[in-house]
Amino acid sequence: QYKRSSELFDEAKKYIPGGVNSPVRAYKSVGGTPIFIEKAKGSILTDVDGNEYIDYISSWGPMILGHAYPKVIKAIKEKVEDSTSFGAPTELEVDIAKLIVNMVPNIDMVRMVNSGTEACMSAIRVARGYTGKNKFIKFEGCYHGHADSFLIKAGSGASTFGEPNSPGVTPGTANDTLTAKYNDIESVKEVVAENKGEIAAIIVEAIAGNMGCVLPKKGFLEDLRELCTKEGILLIFDEVMSGFRLAKGGAQEYFGIKADLVTFGKVIGGGMPVGAYAGSSEIMNIVSPVGPVYQAGTLSGNPIAMIAGYTLLKELNANPQLFTELADKTEYLHKGLDKVLQASGFDYRINRCGSMLSIFFTDTDVVDFDSAATANNAKFPKFFHEMLKRGIYLPPSSFESYFLSNSLTYEMLDKTIQAAK
Ligand code: PLP
Repeated sequence: QYKRSSELFDEAKKYIPGGVNSPVRAYKSVGGTPIFIEKAKGSILTDVDGNEYIDYISSWGPMILGHAYPKVIKAIKEKVEDSTSFGAPTELEVDIAKLIVNMVPNIDMVRMVNSGTEACMSAIRVARGYTGKNKFIKFEGCYHGHADSFLIKAGSGASTFGEPNSPGVTPGTANDTLTAKYNDIESVKEVVAENKGEIAAIIVEAIAGNMGCVLPKKGFLEDLRELCTKEGILLIFDEVMSGFRLAKGGAQEYFGIKADLVTFGKVIGGGMPVGAYAGSSEIMNIVSPVGPVYQAGTLSGNPIAMIAGYTLLKELNANPQLFTELADKTEYLHKGLDKVLQASGFDYRINRCGSMLSIFFTDTDVVDFDSAATANNAKFPKFFHEMLKRGIYLPPSSFESYFLSNSLTYEMLDKTIQAAK
């Protein structure tokens, strides 16, 4: 069934460290052979052996309207005729910046980069430049990309799957990266008190999607906002996952909480490598060449990536009902899975938010990295492989959120629910 994938995996191990690039942890956390995908259309993936799967990864989030979305493909094809990169300003950069500022609350300015990692790194540098302070706080289990500064401390946990956190990085960086517990404001207050006046920013995934869609407890984000304002600390929402997915305006709109800086990735690129960071003009003008904080990128804002992102965002902006449709589909899947999993006698818990969902095989509340880690028990690999055999492609770990796309039909959702029996 997976013959060609197996052959490719054997060959890949010779040339690619780890054997595969993406999805990076597929085979590691669930075992078996990673499936090599040949093509994707809407919500259907086809692998190199000709097997078809209903896709719940959406390329780890970006493909919110499905793979090969016709308007995006058409726009890319037309743009590519004009050349791929100029290294000079384009009208498109202004268009996409204007659109993002219109869609997202509390921001006046946005700068485009090439990935979510780069967006988060840049936001941290801007926060350091703006506040003149050096330390920042991240939460255990929240993921902000593969930069050393984010991975350095134990506590990236879920996101590094027990892999060593970048050995050999300079101790100075390590000392600047502090960690607190998601959903536990007291743990944040403690770290702030121990580092009084030294903290530039707190960076958080408003929904801890890298622990498996762990929702903020009532009041947690409000308390965080209040603490940051009181202590003169910038609050950074890492919206790489939640941006343009939970709602048109992302987590700030969804939860009604203002962040000082936001970072984007995934959906913002329409399937191309794009990231962005944004904030008020007062903060953002610290960026060069107006301000002292240098930030640049050879291919940042390149026309092919920009046209893909711009076309997708325009579609979302013009059709906000898409977010409701997606949330309805996600709720439908949740309820259907509830029925079959309850009947099967499994201990499980499903977390859901907007178009994201995750299944933990536990019946206890999942609020932070420790409880997510405990819930991520041995039952998951079996569930993953059984679903795969039935043509359902799930994220290969219960730490990962399922990303639904609007190309999923109710028929596909029904097939998925039946497969989980
Ligand atoms: N921040 C969050 C919340 C993410 O989920 C991710 C990637 O999954 C990143 C940052 C890093 O983004 P990228 O993989 O585009 O570098």
